[in-house]
Parts: sequence; C-alpha cells; structure tokens
Amino acid sequence: MGPPTDPVGSADVQPTSSDVVVIGGGIIGLSTALFLAREGLSVVVCEKGQFAGEQSSRNWGWVRRMGRDPRELPLVVEAMRLWDEMEALVGCDVGFRRTGILYLCENDADVAHHQDWIARAGAYALDTRIISGPELARRLPGAARTFHAALHTPSDGRAEPQKAAPAIALAAARSGAVLLGNCSVRSLESSGGALSAVVTERGRIATKRVVIAGGIWSSQLCRTLGLRLPQLGIRSSVLRTAPVEGGPDGAAWGPRFAYRKRLDGGYTIADGSRSLHDVVPDSFRFLGDFLPILKREWRHMRLGFGAPLVAGLRDSLRGADGAAMAFEATRILDPQPRQRQLAAAYAALQEAFPIFRNVPVVQQWAGMIDATPDVIPVISTVQSHPGLVIATGFSGHGFGIGPAAGRLAADLVTGAMPIVDPRAFRYERFIDGTKPLPTTGV
Ligand SMILES: Cc1cc2nc3c(=O)[nH]c(=O)nc-3n(C[C@H](O)[C@H](O)[C@H](O)COP(=O)(O)OP(=O)(O)OC[C@H]3O[C@@H](n4cnc5c(N)ncnc54)[C@H](O)[C@@H]3O)c2cc1C
Repeated sequence: MGPPTDPVGSADVQPTSSDVVVIGGGIIGLSTALFLAREGLSVVVCEKGQFAGEQSSRNWGWVRRMGRDPRELPLVVEAMRLWDEMEALVGCDVGFRRTGILYLCENDADVAHHQDWIARAGAYALDTRIISGPELARRLPGAARTFHAALHTPSDGRAEPQKAAPAIALAAARSGAVLLGNCSVRSLESSGGALSAVVTERGRIATKRVVIAGGIWSSQLCRTLGLRLPQLGIRSSVLRTAPVEGGPDGAAWGPRFAYRKRLDGGYTIADGSRSLHDVVPDSFRFLGDFLPILKREWRHMRLGFGAPLVAGLRDSLRGADGAAMAFEATRILDPQPRQRQLAAAYAALQEAFPIFRNVPVVQQWAGMIDATPDVIPVISTVQSHPGLVIATGFSGHGFGIGPAAGRLAADLVTGAMPIVDPRAFRYERFIDGTKPLPTTGV
C-alpha cells in the first residue's frame, strides 16, 4: 500500500464533451488541469484509480533546483516561484518549506563532481555552494560522524506529497474542472487527422484537445495512437518513521541513505544510490534508446525478472485490448518495496545519526519512476497529432518541477506564450534521429 493521501472526491457524471481531457490524476495532470480551468476552459481529468495514488504521493518530497540537468533549470525556477505561492493558489498548507538540501560528500572526488555542476548551472546555481567543517555540522544536528563536505542549497526545499497533489486537485475542481476517479481511458479517437474523442470505461468524451499525463503508463497510452514513446520504469523504495526530536530540518542525500523531514515530525528515508529496473517487454523494445544511459549507470542498476515481465507479455499478446485491460486491472500500481535495501539504508542512517536508533518505521512502500532515455521529461505538442500534448517522463524529479510543468503543458494546450522555452522537452527528439543526450544533472 502507498502512503495515505488527503481525500479527493470524484464527479458522478462523465461529461459528453469537454474543451480538454487530461489523462492522469498525478501532480502533472492535476496542475495542468488547474491552470486550464483557471483560464476558463472546460476540463475533465480522468484517473484510472485514485488521484495521486501513484508516484505523486509516493515520492520523497524534495523540491530542488540543485543538481538538476541544466535543461530543466529555467522550468524549476518557475516551479519554485509557484511553490512559494502554493498556499494562496490552492487554499491550504501543503508543507512547502525552504529548509535546504545537502548532497553529502565522502571525498575530494565527490566535491569535484558537485563543483562541476555549479559551473554548468552558471547563473542558476544562485546560492548553491560547497560547505564543510562547523558550517556543515550545524546543518546536521544529531549526527555522530563528520562528513568531508557537502553541496548545499539553502533555498531548496520540501513539500508533502500526500497533501500537494490532492490540494491541487481540489483547487482545480473549485475552478470548474471535472475530476473522474476510477475512470480509465481506454483509447483516443481521431477523425480527419485531428483528435476527436477520448474513450473511457464509462463511454466517450468528445474533445479536440488531450493531455497525456499518465506517468509510467504514458508510453502504453501513446501506443494506442501509434506513437512511439521510449519510457521505462525504475522501482524505488521508501520508508517513513515515527516523529523524531532534534534531527536535521531539511533533506540530505548521503552515500548510503537519503532523508527528508516530514511535516508530521517523522522522516521519509530511502537509498538513492541504487536503482532496480523490472524487466518488461518495453525493456527490449526500447533497449537501443536507453543504451547510452545504461552504459553510464550500469554499476548502480539491478534488473528484476518476475511478475511484471509475465504480466507485460500477457498484455502484449492480447494486443490493444490487453492495454485497455491493463489500465483497469491495475487501478493503482503498487510495487513491492525492497525491504533489505530499506533496512540497510535505515541502519546506515542510524549509524550516522544515533537519534534514529529507537525510532520505529511506520510504513514502507515503493513507486515506479517513469524514466526517459535522456532523463528529462517530454512536455510537448506532437506534430503528427494536432491537439495532443504529452507531459510525462519526469524521470524521478517531477514532483518539485510539477506545478511549472503543468503550467507549461497548459500553455501548450492554449497556444499561449510558454512560461519557458519548451524545445528541450519536445517529443520528436525521440523519433527524429536525435541522439539522446543523457542528463548532466547530479
Ligand atoms: C519513490 C519515488 C521518489 C521520488 N522522489 C521525488 C522527489 O523527491 N522530488 C521530485 O521532484 N520527484 C520525485 N519523484 C518523482 C515524482 O514523484 C514524479 O516525477 C511525479 O510524481 C510524476 O507525476 P505524474 O503526474 O507524471 O505521474 P503519476 O503521479 O504517476 O500520475 C500518473 C497518473 O496517471 C494515471 N493513469 C495512467 N494511465 C491512465 C489511463 N489510461 N487512464 C486514466 N488514468 C491513467 C495513473 O493512475 C496515475 O495516477 C519520485 C518518485 C518516486 C517513485
């Protein structure tokens, strides 16, 4: 089970037509819907399960500029501005606090790696710098050991994933968006070369504009339109603790653990250094696209061969019907957390911070990160399908950037001046022979 999220109701009646249909009720689809509804468009959001039931409630809750791929930096600056205004935008506190983020370094090589990011980020590095000694120790109350140094951004922050996307959903509904939970989109229809309808399990919604914001399911959704979107899942496990007195206030990434203080006084903890990819049919389909990043990251990757491969093969054999059935068969994707990895991460944290020693673990869960070959998202119109916008592939960093990504997707729907230049996020980079340029974020 995922962590409990703030509740979001669902409309009883599915409209027969809408200016825009958004597929996916995670932070990206919901932010897009909020901005579209505020501009007076009629919007329907279809969510196959529970709003924010997948990645958007299961993530670490880091809102960071630090370490980002330089291509994402202009968008994340907009996102930070929106997080500052979030309470006014959605009408409640979603736990956004600029409590700083640290990347802990063990040696000079780690420091050099991070200094390289500062150089690449240029003017966007703002208040990011390397700190060490007493200055670092002050940021790590409760630590029993010293760290060589850290990359530190005091203006980065955190927010509560179990609150933020639900609050955005409720604000979108107050602005007029129709939210349909437990409502899977089975396919999209077009006529005369343009989109004409979305077919859900409840029937047809006539529309000329659709936003695909389906997280890890987006590639499968695109396939119903004959579009190739290379995207693969990374299973990422998390635990949360009971409240802890006297611990560090912000978030930090260490060599064997990562932590983030929660609004409830507990901590969200994980091991961010190793990834698990569950092999599925798409792993073979998109192998060529992912080779450059695989070559670079293989030391930190594990492969899983199990139930997801069997289920994927079964759905592939069923063709288009198999895809539609998969959306409904998995209302909420709830992967198994890797308990041994979590136990090791918590033990490493307890060794570094003895104040955690007797603090019980309240819950463990996992989420499926939707990665692209260059580890930056697609936020894009699609030349071959006028009226379609894709906003997906956030590759493990879509929570922090989510509000601005939704703003950008809404701009692309309406044709307004986009908040940032969207060219780095264009869909066609994956089909026009452009070589994927794997991320230079850290
Ligand atoms: C463990 C973990 C830690 C992370 N930590 C961070 C972090 O600290 N900071 C950060 O910025 N990011 C983090 N991320 C990444 C972040 O959570 C995601 O990038 C972000 O939530 C993506 O939002 P989304 O709306 O695109 O996808 P999702 O939240 O996955 O939402 C997609 C939704 O689409 C729905 N859907 C799919 N297909 C259909 C269909 N056919 N019909 C109807 N609905 C459909 C799904 O049910 C789902 O609810 C983390 C992710 C994980 C898993």
